[in-house]
Formats: sequence, C-alpha cells, structure tokens
Amino acid sequence: MDRRGAPRKAVLAELREARDDDLHFSDGRIFGSMCTDPLPIARRAHAMFLETNLGNPGYYKGTWRLERKVLESLSRLLQGTNLGGFTVSGATEGNITALWMARNVTHRKTVVYADTAHFSIRKAIDLLGMRGVEVGHDEEYRLDVDTLRKKITKETAAVVAVAGTTELGQVDPIDEIGDLCQGRAFFHVDAAFGGFVLPFLEDLGVRVPPWDFRVPGVSSLVLDAHKMGMATIPASHLLVREAKHFARIAVESPYLTSVYQTSLLGTRNSAGVAAAYAATRFLGRDGYRKLVAKCMRNTKIIAARAEQAGLKLAIPPVMNVLAIRVRDVEGVQRALDAKGWKVSTSRNPPAIRVVVMPHITARHATHFADDFVSACGKVGED
Ligand code: PLP
Repeated sequence: MDRRGAPRKAVLAELREARDDDLHFSDGRIFGSMCTDPLPIARRAHAMFLETNLGNPGYYKGTWRLERKVLESLSRLLQGTNLGGFTVSGATEGNITALWMARNVTHRKTVVYADTAHFSIRKAIDLLGMRGVEVGHDEEYRLDVDTLRKKITKETAAVVAVAGTTELGQVDPIDEIGDLCQGRAFFHVDAAFGGFVLPFLEDLGVRVPPWDFRVPGVSSLVLDAHKMGMATIPASHLLVREAKHFARIAVESPYLTSVYQTSLLGTRNSAGVAAAYAATRFLGRDGYRKLVAKCMRNTKIIAARAEQAGLKLAIPPVMNVLAIRVRDVEGVQRALDAKGWKVSTSRNPPAIRVVVMPHITARHATHFADDFVSACGKVGED
C-alpha cells in the first residue's frame, strides 16, 4: 500500500478503467452466466443497505424484518409452512449449511447425489468430512431413482437432488426421491437456478412435477436470488422444513447481539437481503412470470434455429438453459468468441451450453442463433 492516499478522481478513474474491461450483461452478448442485470430497484436497495450486517441482528432490526418477510413470501411461493431459514451468500453456502445440518441431525456422514449435481456439493462434502456417493442419471439427465434406491443405506445422512441442473436446466424426480428419503435421510433440494423459474413456469401452465415443499420428504431447499431472482450478488435463500434443526448447527456468539449464530458466515452481507426483498416485492408473481415467459420464448428461438440446422439438443428445453450437441465443442466456442458471443460448455453431455437470461432480448437471441449456426458450419458440424 502506498504511504499517501491517491486523489479521489484518480481512484475513480482507475475503477472506471477496470469496469470498462469487464463484460456487461446489457450488451446482450453473455449466454454463459446464470446471473443477469439486477433490477434497478434491487440495485437501489443494495446501495441503501451497504453497511448492514445480519451477523449482528440486534443492531439491524429493520433489515432483520425484511429478511423475515422475504422468507415468509418465499415459503408461500414454495408451498411450505413455518419454514426456518435465512438469506445466504449463494447456493454454495446454502448447500454447505444444509449438509452441515444433515450431518449433525442424523449423526451420519454419507451424502448421495447425482453426477449432474453442482460441484459445490463436492466442496461441502470435503469441508464437512463427509463421504460422497455419486449416482448416475437416466437418458434425460435426471438422477436415476433405481440406482438411488440401492444406494440409500443406514449410513446415509443426506440425499441431494437438483431442480434446474447447472448444465442442462433439468429437474430431478424430486417427488419420487422424496418418497425414498422420508423417514430415512435428510433430503436437500438444490434449486439455485430453478427456484425462481419453476413456480412461474407452473403459472404459465407448464406441467411441472412437484419439486418443492409440497413433496413431504423434502427437508431443505436453496434458491438463488442473484440468478433468476433478479437481485444483486450475493443473495440466495436457504429454507428448512424443521426450523428446530438449526439448533444442531448453532454456535454461541458471545460478543454479538444474538446468543447463538446458526449461519456459516459471521458478518453477513445484508444488502442482498434488501435487494431480494425489493425484487420480490416489486415484481410479484406476475412480474416473474413475464420474465420467465420472455426467457423461454428467447430460448425457443435459439433451440428452433439450431434444430432447423440439423443440430441436436441434449434434452428439449425444460427451462432457459440449452445444451446443443456439437462434435467440436471447443472449436464452436472459439468461433463464437471471435464474434463476441460468450457461451460456456457442458461436460455431460459434451455440448455448447447456452443460458438465456432476462438481459437477452429476442433480437439478441435471433442474432446469436444465426451466428451459432454459421459457427457450427465453419467448424464442420452438420
Ligand atoms: N447449485 C447449482 C444448481 C448451480 O447452478 C450453482 C451455480 O451456478 C450453484 C449451486 C452455486 O451457486 P453460487 O454460485 O450462488 O454459490
């Protein structure tokens, strides 16, 4: 660090220069991220709550009230009653906390999850000294329930399923898994992406098998406000059916205004709580439904164009994530990159992964789809 501070103007110029080097969602070029431009009202809320810290809730009664209100509104959305929970920094923290709770509630250490689950599950297992058992998927890339049935044993602490897989946006058969887990294991649903999509797909009349707290076996669920929730980073929510289970991960917090702390993090960024509150209050179910409808329309523009060109999708789009099979995945990704399009790739199956978030307009989707098909032609895909 320099001995003397720099002038404000110089610091701001450096910040602007750095920001100019970043990519921006508003350019409509980013198809490789599950995040998006937060709503303007969510940005405003974030800025109003910058120094709030729900790690010390006694000082921030207003912020705490907002957190409770978001929890109540999401509990209703996900059809739970008297759920426990709080806002976390992301699904990674939510997944770690849920498995921490599962380990301490069951006094067991084995976690069973599909090979399509997000890598944060493996982080959690490692951190918590647990043992992971991976099960395969069916031909639609959903956790294979028949294999799961054989893998649940007396040692199983938790089963993890996904509502909106990272690579394909697929939903595991949560209701069937819930039946298997009830009375036998803690069942955590990772709805990081799907949590803010599936309820609104249902509102749009899409038939979605039960995947939330309607399924009696579901113990906990995480959903990210900083993905399709339209809030700012970091904001995600962990909801737990039996609030009393938090006692199993409680640690005394002597110098703070709370007697116990049940969050993994000490100081908790609470601007995300305000942003999530603002987004959910401002949009309501109708607002999210419209956003999801737009994302699905744009997803279908790209899917239809790819299929017209003879390309195959890994699965028909369940939500606004597409995996388009190509032989030379890196080659197509490079060709798209050269045209300024940012996509990511999936490993299972090898494909170009396209996430169609709310910052993508129909014009962006059409333009991208044309360039995608021509990039595939250039690298020799048929
Ligand atoms: N779970 C799923 C299904 C995800 O798709 C992601 C991220 O994309 C995560 C967990 C991790 O979420 P975060 O980055 O908010 O920690």
